[in-house]
Amino acid sequence: MASSNEYRKLSIKDALKAKKSFVKDAIETINELDKNIKAFITVNENAQDVPGNFSGIPLAIKDNIVVKEMKTTCGSKILETFVSPYDATVVEKLKKAGFSIVGKTNLDEFAMGTSTEYSAFYTTRNPWDLDRVAGGSSGGSAAAVASGEVVAALGSDTGGSIRQPAAFCGVVGFKPTYGLVSRYGLIAFASSLDQIGPITKTVEDAALLTQIISGKDPRDATTVEKQIDFSKYIGKNFKNICVAYPEEVFAEGIDNEIARKFEEFIKFLESLEISVKKINFPELKYAVATYYIIAPAEVSSNLSRFDGIRYGLREEKEGLLETYLETRKNGFGPEVIRRIMIGTFTLSAAYYDAYFERAQKVRRKISSKINEILSNYDFLITPTSPITAFKIGEIKDPLVYYMMDIFTIPANLAGLPAISIPFGFSNNLPVGMQIIGKRFDDAKVLGFADFIEQTSPYNTNGRFPTPLEEEEK
Ligand code: GLN
Repeated sequence: MASSNEYRKLSIKDALKAKKSFVKDAIETINELDKNIKAFITVNENAQDVPGNFSGIPLAIKDNIVVKEMKTTCGSKILETFVSPYDATVVEKLKKAGFSIVGKTNLDEFAMGTSTEYSAFYTTRNPWDLDRVAGGSSGGSAAAVASGEVVAALGSDTGGSIRQPAAFCGVVGFKPTYGLVSRYGLIAFASSLDQIGPITKTVEDAALLTQIISGKDPRDATTVEKQIDFSKYIGKNFKNICVAYPEEVFAEGIDNEIARKFEEFIKFLESLEISVKKINFPELKYAVATYYIIAPAEVSSNLSRFDGIRYGLREEKEGLLETYLETRKNGFGPEVIRRIMIGTFTLSAAYYDAYFERAQKVRRKISSKINEILSNYDFLITPTSPITAFKIGEIKDPLVYYMMDIFTIPANLAGLPAISIPFGFSNNLPVGMQIIGKRFDDAKVLGFADFIEQTSPYNTNGRFPTPLEEEEK
C-alpha cells in the first residue's frame, strides 16, 4: 500500500529519476481507485513497458484521441464499440518516447461540456470531493492525474476543456498555441478551436510533454513548422515583467471567493516584483456568445460523418435516410443534439449573415483586442473558472453552464497559449489561475507558470499537493 501511495505522488520527472517501471502500479491503482472516481472508460489491463527514454511511465489519453487497437468512444453511444485501427500523431509520438498508455479517460460527449455529466456513460468524480464534478470536458484526465492513477494525461481544449478540469482538480493544464500540436487522430469538435495538450502535476512536466507531442505534421494542415524549446524558461526568474488583468473579470458572474483569491494572486505576483495592471477588455462579455455560435456551427459539419454507415453504431432501417435518422437520434445525447441543431440553424441560408458571419467578425475583434493587450504586456491573467468544482447535478440551466467558459474561451478564439495552475483553495476546493501569452510564446507561458509554481505559498516541494498528500498532512 505504501509503495502505491508513493506512486500516486510521482511527476514524470520523479518517475524518470526512479528508473523503474510504474506500469503495474498504474493498473493496480486504477483498479483500486476508479470504482469511486470513474475517470476511465477503458483500462488497458495488458499495458506493457515500451522501449524509449520514458519507458515505464504510465499515461492516460482522453477518449476522443485515438489509440490503435483500443476503443475510442468519445463518451458517446454512437462510438461505444469503435476500435481505432491507427494511433493519433500525439499517441504515436508518446509511444515512440517510451510512455505506456494505460487507459482512455472519460469526457463529456464529443468534448461538449464542462463536467463530464454529458458523458453517455457516467460522471467522473472530483478526487478532492467525490460528490463534485471533476470539470470537463477532460474531467477524466484531470481526475486521473490528481488522484495519482496516472502520472500525467492528455486532454483536448476547444473552449477550456484542459484548463477548467485542471483548475477543478488542482493540477496543471496547458493549451498550446493553435497549430503547434497535430490533431490528426483527435475526433474533431470545432476544428478552428481544438487543440491537444497535457494535464500534469507540475509545469515542468507540461513543458516536457508538449515538447514530445508538438511539431509539424503533414496529416494536419493547420500545424506549423516552428522550433520551440518548451523548457527554455523553466527555473528562470520572471520578476520585473508586466502582466495585465481585465477589470471585467470581477463583473462576469464570478464567485466572491474566487474574486478574493484572484486579488490575493495579484498581491502575490506584486510581492514577486511583478507589475500587475488593470486593463479594459469590454469585448470579453461577447466571448461566450461568439463561441456558442462558432463551435456548434463547426459541430454540425464535423459530426455529419456519424451517419450509421461509416463508424460505430448503426440502427438499420428500411431506407438510408431512416437509418441515418434513427442512428443519430439514438446515438447522440441531448447536448450534442442541441449543438447540432444550433449549428445547423446558424449556418442556414436565412440566418448565416445574422449569426455565423457576425460571430466570425466578433471573433476577429476579440482576437485583435487580446493581441493588442499582449503587445503591451507580457501576459494576461484571469482566474481559470468563475467558480470551483460544483456538486454533481447542481447546474441544470445550459446558459449558466456555458458561462463557466467565460475566461477560457478567449484564448481559443485567438489561438493563444494558455495555462491553468493551482493557487490555493476556496472552501477546501482547488482554485486555478490562468496565464495567457502571445502566439508561440508557449515557452514563456510555461516558464512564468513554473516561476509561480516554485514560489507559491500553497506549494510544497515545488508543486501543489495532490488530495492524497493533503490528506496525509
Ligand atoms: N465547455 C466548453 C464547451 O462545452 C468547452 C469544451 C471544450 O473545450 N472541449 O464547449
